[in-house]
Formats: sequence, C-alpha cells, structure tokens
Amino acid sequence: MNVYDKIKELADGIQSDLVACRRDFHKYAETGWLEMRTSSIIARKLTDMGYEVLTGDQVCKKDARMGVPSDEVLEEQYQRAVNQGADPEFVQRTKGGMTGVIGILRCGEGPTVAMRFDIDALGVIEETDPSHLPAREGFGSVNPGFMHACGHDGHATIGLGVARVLMAIRDQLHGTVKLIFQPAEEGVRGAKAIVENGHLDGVQYLIGSHITDKKPDDPATVIPGSYGSLATSKYDVVFHGKSAHAGGSPHLGKNVMLAVATAVLNLYAIPRHGKGQTRVNVGTVHAGSGRNVIADEAKMEIEVRGETTELNQYMTNYAVSILENSAKMHGCTCDLRLMGAANSLSSDVELAERVARVCREKLDMPVSETLRSKSGGSEDVSYMMNRVQEQGGQATFMRVLTPEAGPGHNRRFDFDEQVLSNAVKIFCGVVYDIMG
Ligand SMILES: [Zn+2]
Repeated sequence: MNVYDKIKELADGIQSDLVACRRDFHKYAETGWLEMRTSSIIARKLTDMGYEVLTGDQVCKKDARMGVPSDEVLEEQYQRAVNQGADPEFVQRTKGGMTGVIGILRCGEGPTVAMRFDIDALGVIEETDPSHLPAREGFGSVNPGFMHACGHDGHATIGLGVARVLMAIRDQLHGTVKLIFQPAEEGVRGAKAIVENGHLDGVQYLIGSHITDKKPDDPATVIPGSYGSLATSKYDVVFHGKSAHAGGSPHLGKNVMLAVATAVLNLYAIPRHGKGQTRVNVGTVHAGSGRNVIADEAKMEIEVRGETTELNQYMTNYAVSILENSAKMHGCTCDLRLMGAANSLSSDVELAERVARVCREKLDMPVSETLRSKSGGSEDVSYMMNRVQEQGGQATFMRVLTPEAGPGHNRRFDFDEQVLSNAVKIFCGVVYDIMG
C-alpha cells in the first residue's frame, strides 16, 4: 500500500476517537492562558504516543506572554482543571498560566516541519437550547462563560490525530516533526511567546490551519493558503488624575473624563494612510466613581490594525501619541499595557501549491479554485510564519472547509466533525510529501 493510502486509512480509522476527543475539549472549554486541563491532556497523549514533549515554561517565554489573567483567576482555573480530570502529572507544569505543549518526533536527517494548532476557547456563553448540537448531545461547555466558539477544540484534536498518524508512519519520514499546541490565540496573545523561546528557529516548513465554513455547493475541502490578515496591536490603557469635589473645588482636581473624551475622539480622527487599510477601535471605557466627584481613574480597551505590519506601526505610533498627549493636556497621566499583537501574514505560493497538489493527486480531495484566500481578521500564527520566512523557509495558513452552524464567536457555533479526519489527512499528506 502506498503511504498516502495508508494515511487515509489511518485517519479514517481514528475518526470516532477524534470526535470523542473534540467533544471532551469542547465540554471543558478553557480560555487563553487557562488551557490547563487541555494542555495536560495533550501532553499526556503525546507522551503515551512516544513523542518528546515540552511543557510549562519550555513552551512559552514567561514574560513574553501577553494578556495573562490575574493570579487569582489563574489559581481558580488551576483548581477547576484538577477537579475536571486534568492529567495529574502534567497539569502541575501549567501552574500560573504556563500552558501550551510542543511534541517533537525525530526521524533522522532531513528538514524540520512544524505545525501549529491553537487550543483556546472564547469568553462566550454557550447556547443551551437542544437545537444546538453540543447541548443536545451533552457536550456543551460546563464552564460558564467559556466556549469553543471558534473551533479550536477541533484544531487541538486535529493536532493529536496528526501526531498519531505520523507516529504510525515514522519509518517513512526523514527529518524532524514539531507539533506546536499554542495557547491564547484569541486576542492574539500566545504565538509571540513561543517564537521568542526559539521554537521556530531552524524550521524549514510551517503549516497552520483554521476550520472555515464551507459553502453548500462547493465540493472543496481546503483552501491551501491565505494572505492579507491584518496586523494588530491591542492595548489596555489606564488614565490617572486627581479626584476633587465637583461643586466646591473642581479646580483642585485633574479630570480623567476630559482626557478620555479627548483621546476617544482623536483616536477615531487618525488620518487614513495612503498605502492601505487601517482600523482603530475603542472597545470599552470605564471611568469615574460618582456623580459629584471629579473622576480620577479611567480604563480603556483599544486596538489598532493595519493591512501590513508597517501600517499597523503607523496606527500604533499615532494612537500612543494621542493617548499620552490627551492625558498631558488635562494634567493626567496614562499607562499602556500591550495585551495582544499580530503581524500581517502571507502564505508562500510554493507551499500552498504543494498542499493543492498533494490533496488533488495523492489524497483525492477536492481543492478550492482559489489558492490563497484573503482573510479579514488577525491571526498570531503570523509571528511564526514571519520567523520561518525570514530564515528562508516556507509557511502556509490553510483553510480546512466544513459546514458550520452559526458564525464564529457566536453562542450557536458548531462544525461538522468530518473535518477532523479530513484535516489529519491533509496535514499528514503534506508532511509526508516533504519528508518522505
Ligand atoms: Zn479561531
């Protein structure tokens, strides 16, 4: 039997295990840096399969993590993970939000091929009506306010499926396989900390993917590449002023309300850039403590984006200047904390074409007419792709297509689980094409 047929047979053979695994991750949804149960189970499974496994601070560089929840939340989630059946040995490694796992399989001389699977859920309250399949089938999230509403439960499962199949065909592979299970993709907070630990250094090929809604009349199972995701920077901003009696002595105060109002209007007034699209959004503002008090503290959550990394830098610089000067203008100060960031990404045509060829000719899976789709959001796999590309390697971010229920990030989101074994075939087929 040729190896591609073997891959198909192995992937089909584990489909029911993949469904069970996905439903387990879905039920115990954990958001960014809190994927403690999830990480412990991934580490256990990879270890049992025979992978060399990195966990804890071996995965993410501790102080390069962005948007980490408070110590209180981290501790609370740790206890919950333990109570919800986390692997007792590996969960200890995740303490303090040191989530994420890397599995390595060394098969002698040859290229290093890395794959990235994100594993975090979202802060969404899942639909409980029985018309929503996870609710009906009893695997709806049991963690209130946490839901896998973007399919990363599927991504983590696909990664474990790829691990199993590649281990089974390891004698046919030449080089090193690196499976990266990345925490905190939502809010683009996790990838940079993995890159800064050096895990993408020396990687010749990087493949990432996202499950994406399939149009009913389109037979395609995959779009081989992507381009045009927006670079972004996300900040929490805290303004400090001075409180005073609003009636008796307003002149003794330093009013953050004015600083914030000045900042909001001017952020939206950042001039457009001639080289491409830009975005700015002030998502939240919380300010003040009482009707008759000059407000002395305000918090804002903002983000900027740009079509290229350069355009995002233009927006970032402008926004920072506006925030600092709005505060200064009214005698206040402001502190900025970077909570998430991503570069723009562009799949290498050569690798995308390889994906298309393997799917069409070796796996008998229909491929989209479009080689690379334009993506509208932001994705921090861009950090990993950029790192590989700047060393002369190739990277692609595929869209694996499947019918979805509800839009992404919605409480009714769900997907057709057939995509699990389909994606395993695509990843493993391409890896074998490179390493075989
Ligand atoms: Zn996602």
